[in-house]
Amino acid sequence: MLPEAEGRRRLVVAGFGMVAYRLVERLAALDALGRYDVTLIGEEPCPAYDRVHLTGWFEHRDPQRLALGRPGWPRALGVRAVTGNPVTSIDRESRAVRTADGERIPYDRLVLATGSAPFVPPIEGAGCDGVFVYRTLDDLERIGKHAARARRAIVAGGGVLGIEAAHALRRLGLEVVLLERGSCLMSRQLGPEAAALLEARVRELGVAIVAEARARRIEPRDGRLVLTLEGGGAPLAADMIVMTAGIRPRDELARDCGLAIAPGRGGIVVDDELRATDPAIHAIGECAAHDGVVYGLVAPGYRMAGTLAEILAGGRTRFRGYTPAVRLRLPGIDVWSLGNHAQPGTRLGWSSNGSYRQITLLGRRPVAAAAVGPWEEMGFTQDAIRQRRRMRPEQLQRFLQTGMFSDAAVRRPVAEWPASAMVCNCLEITRGALSAAVAAGCSSVEAVAERTGASTVCGFCRPLVAELAGDTPSSGSSRESATLLTAAAAAVLLALAIAGGSPLPLPRSVQAGHVWDILYREGWWRQATGFGLLGCVLAAAGFALRKRWRRVGWGNLGWWRAGHAALGALALTALLAHTGLRLGSGLNQVLMICFLTASVFGGATAAGLGRRYARLTFWLHVVAVWPLPVLLAFHVLASYYF
Ligand SMILES: Cc1cc2nc3c(=O)[nH]c(=O)nc-3n(C[C@H](O)[C@H](O)[C@H](O)COP(=O)(O)OP(=O)(O)OC[C@H]3O[C@@H](n4cnc5c(N)ncnc54)[C@H](O)[C@@H]3O)c2cc1C
Repeated sequence: MLPEAEGRRRLVVAGFGMVAYRLVERLAALDALGRYDVTLIGEEPCPAYDRVHLTGWFEHRDPQRLALGRPGWPRALGVRAVTGNPVTSIDRESRAVRTADGERIPYDRLVLATGSAPFVPPIEGAGCDGVFVYRTLDDLERIGKHAARARRAIVAGGGVLGIEAAHALRRLGLEVVLLERGSCLMSRQLGPEAAALLEARVRELGVAIVAEARARRIEPRDGRLVLTLEGGGAPLAADMIVMTAGIRPRDELARDCGLAIAPGRGGIVVDDELRATDPAIHAIGECAAHDGVVYGLVAPGYRMAGTLAEILAGGRTRFRGYTPAVRLRLPGIDVWSLGNHAQPGTRLGWSSNGSYRQITLLGRRPVAAAAVGPWEEMGFTQDAIRQRRRMRPEQLQRFLQTGMFSDAAVRRPVAEWPASAMVCNCLEITRGALSAAVAAGCSSVEAVAERTGASTVCGFCRPLVAELAGDTPSSGSSRESATLLTAAAAAVLLALAIAGGSPLPLPRSVQAGHVWDILYREGWWRQATGFGLLGCVLAAAGFALRKRWRRVGWGNLGWWRAGHAALGALALTALLAHTGLRLGSGLNQVLMICFLTASVFGGATAAGLGRRYARLTFWLHVVAVWPLPVLLAFHVLASYYF
């Protein structure tokens, strides 16, 4: 054991990411911060933020929405926080670290929480402009800026991160090609049947997939990037390339000061007390290798932080490893992977109606599982893997026939689940622990989350936590999405009303005229509504062209799309006033039909109606828009000529 000086000790944490934040939070929760003078040292320019939900930044572009903890929390807790100033060396002899600006900071205990760096395979030209990695807020800002001027992107790496990045770029309006070295997406976690379902969904979302593709060289050519594949095949051209080929632990500080590093992919070797090979130094999170395993997930990092906080508070707890649980966030599909898929074993699979479930058994004990589509027994299965529970033969038989281990196939209220059933799969929090939090007075998701951490990682258990707490979870949709949805729904309803409504009556006599019929009856008003309509249509077209005009990269695309839809709805209102629900005849009728068709399909695409057919509705919108300039020009000329 390390001899410790009396009084407050100096605790230095190198790395100010999610796991470092969790460590301080747990120390505070255990009332142990009073024992230490804590210094958190970060390389990034901002304090810890929620990297798991980093992709959400493309929707809201607000780093504050990712921040962990309340503003000013380090000061409130009496913690010194240093940002934008990485630790450059560790002097184990004198127990001090040195930072990039030359400051020497002594420690009694040092915690390394330096996370991982994206792995960029040794591809010729990988350092070119336009090639990005996907890890930090800075990376996403750079990607966002470049994407605003780009039309086509390649994402290299078809794991969970690659799929998430490809979908994000697609939502930014780019054509996206996703490359995977293996034979299918998420090839390390999913078998061929599950991967086929996932791939079908990814393609429906508009992402092209090229499997068994190994990038060999990237070359800038004519303002674009050309990627050559190993083994021939047509080269792929794009405006940007995002590398999502995995991660490597950031163990360089530990290597340089002589701490033991795991063979192969590296990682700072730690024991069950998360101690490195120097008793004054701990390592937690993605930079640590426990039992030879480096976890690329936040939940085991949080577990390590919790364990270390208890140890630093004087407890005797140990870290005993973690059953990996990965969940992919994509609209319209749930993909789960549990346990270690590298283990050999017998695989049992079940599929029905676009769902697939698979377990890997060693004897009768499940060691891994994967699913595409909802699976009510996911928590139970994770628990079985974690507890190394032996399944009964009839349970396995039932799984093969129904995809369920038990008869209780119907989803029971969470409150009736067994106390040991897993609700928060990421942090392995059971129904019993959550019920205890609710019984202790937590009556909202936020309160339960603050007390237990449940729903704070991937967020998928949020509805279950809400159900247990008697709360209604918020949809979490951004303001621009809500605006887009409202405007698109208004456009569709207006277009259908104009197409299907009977013409508003013209007055029988001058005296009988309504106030509003002058809009579509009187020359001056007709001109006003007509030019108002033309203005809205041109502005809407301008908003839509923003993506195609490569030099323009202003603002958040979400708001541009919402603006496009709102202008469309405004144009339809002007059309209603201009025509009084009359479809006209001859070319005017063709103009009306094209305009209304474009509006219905445009609105349907934006509102996400029938996501499966989003590509089709988008192209129908575009096709209906094409004749509009000529028809409109003819209509304006004809109106004045006659
Ligand atoms: C887009 C994205 C989505 C993800 N989604 C999920 C998910 O759904 N589920 C999941 O479990 N995990 C997910 N992850 C992984 C998850 O974010 C990580 O597991 C988690 O952030 C690890 O926390 P950490 O503190 O160990 O490392 P990090 O969060 O990376 O923090 C380490 C920090 O240390 C800093 N640092 C490094 N070296 C030094 C130095 N010498 N001096 C000072 N500071 C230094 C780094 O700059 C960084 O800020 C995702 C990751 C990304 C990028």
